[in-house]
Amino acid sequence: MQALIIGCGIAGPVTAMALREVGIDAKIFEAYEQGAEDVGSFLNVASNGLAALQVLGAHHKVLSQAIPTPRMVMWSGSGKRLGEVANGLRLDDGTVSHTVLRSDLYRTMRDEATRRGIEVTYGKRLVSYDESARKVTARFADGTEATGDLLIACDGVHSRTRMILDPQAPAARYSGLYSFGGIVKDAGFTGEPGVYNMVFGKRAFFGYAERGAWGGERQLASPAEPRASATMGAVPESGETWWFANLPRRLGDVPEDWKPVLVRAFEDDANFSAELIRRSDVGSGSPIYDLPPVPVWHRGRVLLIGDAAHATSPSSGQGASLAVEDAVVLARCLRDSGSHTEAFERFEAERRPRAERVVAYSRTISNSKAAGPVARVFRDLMLPFFLKKSASQESLAWMYRYQASL
Ligand SMILES: Cc1cc2nc3c(=O)[nH]c(=O)nc-3n(C[C@H](O)[C@H](O)[C@H](O)COP(=O)(O)OP(=O)(O)OC[C@H]3O[C@@H](n4cnc5c(N)ncnc54)[C@H](O)[C@@H]3O)c2cc1C
Repeated sequence: MQALIIGCGIAGPVTAMALREVGIDAKIFEAYEQGAEDVGSFLNVASNGLAALQVLGAHHKVLSQAIPTPRMVMWSGSGKRLGEVANGLRLDDGTVSHTVLRSDLYRTMRDEATRRGIEVTYGKRLVSYDESARKVTARFADGTEATGDLLIACDGVHSRTRMILDPQAPAARYSGLYSFGGIVKDAGFTGEPGVYNMVFGKRAFFGYAERGAWGGERQLASPAEPRASATMGAVPESGETWWFANLPRRLGDVPEDWKPVLVRAFEDDANFSAELIRRSDVGSGSPIYDLPPVPVWHRGRVLLIGDAAHATSPSSGQGASLAVEDAVVLARCLRDSGSHTEAFERFEAERRPRAERVVAYSRTISNSKAAGPVARVFRDLMLPFFLKKSASQESLAWMYRYQASL
């Protein structure tokens, strides 16, 4: 059996590796030329995502590029420490959630797939496909085509395949936020390594993590959790501060230069976010999207997975992890089913409830980041209670304690 994989983001190469584990050949077709990843932005690979990568023996590669970030500390824009929650769970071997540059994650997954003998072809943008009784043929913008037994669409939140599969499928839904990211070397005044600091600012949301004491010496299993600290002023030995910002903004309202806009959004907050932005190359920013429930995930020989099926806003830090889980579950379903139809049905039954729950959870957080002035006051009052509940009752265990198995 041969699968055509459309897209070489995260779901694409990991799915190809998972399929290979169960004896299915896969070829990847990516729209862009190699190395077109969004440099500078980073993402959280949660412990559940790392657990899924572990099943494929591919987690070491990610960990060696990443910062361990087992904790999240929340702050208000006035500098008040609102509380702390665990960022994921500790796996049996001690591995915790990690933060990694998007470009490193993409490159690592792609290189690992290639090392395992999987062919990746670039400059192949799927524009349409046709199915016969026994095969499916993908057609690309350059006039070429490829034929296989299955087509697995890993083409992201704006998936072309989704619209062909079901022209009534919902389009991506704008969250009301633009996202920015940057890296400042030796900032000298930021927080503790191992902590993702999240600041509910007066006008926008700011997050940062420190690659300080661990800098360069990245580890497979993280050392004991760093001690809790209530100060935002702890000085790291040296290293980098990785930051991101979520700015409420009308879609398409794009200034010539984002930097002064972002600085203004943060300069009344009682922390150093505006200063970090001043010292960074801010770039063009990305509007953040998620997907309402997508009614059709598969038809015939074609299946959507990853963001193409269930894109979540970044607020839960789960999109990449869900994509990796999908890959592992799909491989198992194909191995254990009598036909691809049965496999796709089993896959959807297993994955839809979880994916949609994460999307809904993430959306509530994004909404609170885009809150107006009145809602913001209410949010800042309620957050400490909410955080206390999350911390004490492990209320997010449903999200993190999921083991995708092959
Ligand atoms: C600002 C931001 C921050 C985020 N932070 C986090 C985080 O902290 N943690 C987390 O887990 N997730 C995060 N995410 C979400 C995460 O990036 C996605 O969930 C994840 O990348 C999904 O992987 P995917 O492979 O399904 O899609 P993608 O990574 O988007 O990959 C899709 C691939 O398909 C290719 N493609 C598209 N159309 C075609 C076509 N027609 N033909 C061929 N190829 C095509 C694209 O070029 C791309 O390479 C964030 C997202 C954003 C935007």
